Amino acid sequence: MMLLRRKKDHHSSCPSSEPACVNFNVANTFRCWLFYDLRSVIAWTGKTKDCKLKMERVIFLLIVTSFLAVGHSVQKEAKYEGHQVWRIDPPTEYVLRAAKMIGEIHHLDFWKDPVAIGRPIDFLVAPDQIDKVRQSLESYGITDYTVFIPNVQNLIDEEMKTTKYSKNKVMRSAGRSVANFDYSVYHPAEEVYEWMDMVVDEHPEMADKVQFGITYEGRPLYALEFKKRASINPRPIIFVDALIHCREWITTASLLFIFKEMLRNPAYAHMMEDVDWYFVPMINVDGYVETWNGDRLWRKTRSTGPSSVCVGTDGNRNWDAFWSMPGASPNPCSYTYHGPSPFSESEVRHLAAYAMGIGEGVIDAFISTHSYSQLILYPYHHTAEPSADDAALNATGKLMSDAIFEVHGKRYVYGPGATTIYISSGTTTDWTYEVAKVVQSHTYELRDTGTYGFVLPAEQIIPNGQEYLAGLVALKQYVVANFVPSGSGSSPQN
Ligand SMILES: [Zn+2]
Repeated sequence: MMLLRRKKDHHSSCPSSEPACVNFNVANTFRCWLFYDLRSVIAWTGKTKDCKLKMERVIFLLIVTSFLAVGHSVQKEAKYEGHQVWRIDPPTEYVLRAAKMIGEIHHLDFWKDPVAIGRPIDFLVAPDQIDKVRQSLESYGITDYTVFIPNVQNLIDEEMKTTKYSKNKVMRSAGRSVANFDYSVYHPAEEVYEWMDMVVDEHPEMADKVQFGITYEGRPLYALEFKKRASINPRPIIFVDALIHCREWITTASLLFIFKEMLRNPAYAHMMEDVDWYFVPMINVDGYVETWNGDRLWRKTRSTGPSSVCVGTDGNRNWDAFWSMPGASPNPCSYTYHGPSPFSESEVRHLAAYAMGIGEGVIDAFISTHSYSQLILYPYHHTAEPSADDAALNATGKLMSDAIFEVHGKRYVYGPGATTIYISSGTTTDWTYEVAKVVQSHTYELRDTGTYGFVLPAEQIIPNGQEYLAGLVALKQYVVANFVPSGSGSSPQN
């Protein structure tokens, strides 16, 4: 959408078919070539003999520039060449604390944070950091660490191969539909938008696409709402989101598969029969576009403050619930920067307003989807104190974890966020629990446990989707069994 808008603007400043070199210059011609097309430029410049020499120079420059552009894109694609993911299994509190300090000193991107003794710590190490980080570890007496992923770029390259193959395949296939959409690969933002349109076109009896806001860069934020129009009785509501951390591609990919199953597979028709669903497949769309076109491992939003040297805020630290408390960073360059103010991020602010628009205490369950680590986390995240609904949340955590285990034998650990992984503040599900009064608020951390981390091979999308779907089936059954319509009193769970 942004590109189209720019295209129009530049087109209007491009020369028309005037047969002279009026306003002719390299910059203008190059700009028009970029945003209009080369053929028009040739037609325009070639009208007079005087222009031909200039045209040749321009074309030469364009060719040189194109090579430079190709070089640049190759460089971008190889951004993580030589980057490694290291793992420490902290045997003592001392090692745990040392890992945290080393992380701060070297500004490390923790893929798995230092949490507890015996819980693996994963972090990304750039080639120019390898010696320094090793020296730091050794200075603290830490010699027992492993290079868990020797070259992250290899994983990204593998991922791109399947994606490119699939894109060609999908583009060749006429008559795309919800049924024949390729769920076994990752899809860029424009294809997710297309998928949403297909869902609405093919299921007008229950599906609506709702725009609830725009991103920082001006892209639309959409939700799909699934409500049986023939239904007259109030039904429970489950809200599911994905991709607030845009490098966690598996979150959106799994959910597209899950909603396809719920729409098309008779075995899961009950999911749509019994419950109204709200589904936001991409929250951080700007960041997602960046992960496809620039930095595959980008995590934050793409906003910039007037005085900030770094881009982006951690969307899962920006909610107006216990904002700016421990477990979020005031440093704009940190991976967990909480933003200049609560709800400073357009995406987060609009999502909160949309959820609140459904009604306080009206949503029966809210699942915010992340990766990786195979966890089901519930409030609180900002404090180790248990919430008033700890027992009910623990019960559903167990139900979902058991259901997931039955599918492919993957064990999802469940528990309160603060004590199961780490303290974090300004999070989605602390807000949905505390402010929107959604007792059944859960954060899913999908596959895997670190072998591939954020760059999970596409072949795991469907198995992971099947597991997550089993978790949602268990949750739906719980929600339906405990449903009390709003206004007619409250159950312990609603
Ligand atoms: Zn995440």
